[in-house]
Amino acid sequence: MKPKFITAYGPWRWFLKMAGFRAITMPWQSVYILHEHQHVEKLHRHELVHIEQIERDGPIKFTLLYLWYLVRYGYWRNPYEVEAYAKEGEEWR
Ligand SMILES: [Zn+2]
Repeated sequence: MKPKFITAYGPWRWFLKMAGFRAITMPWQSVYILHEHQHVEKLHRHELVHIEQIERDGPIKFTLLYLWYLVRYGYWRNPYEVEAYAKEGEEWR
């Protein structure tokens, strides 16, 4: 399945802004993204790593593990995020 990058609209936009996220990748391989971001290419690479992780681990395992890691380690030390930030190029915040 080919991932789809979708400009975040309505509730997705609201959620991303509330959470302070740049984008969110859903297990059905849709990436909702705030396109006004100035590092869009890097962001695409980052989200493609999550797509790769979803394909590797399967959507259910990925979602459960992602949430578990988030609770256990927090966002920045979440192993899925560490991998995505490492592969997107350089780390920035
Ligand atoms: Zn990420």
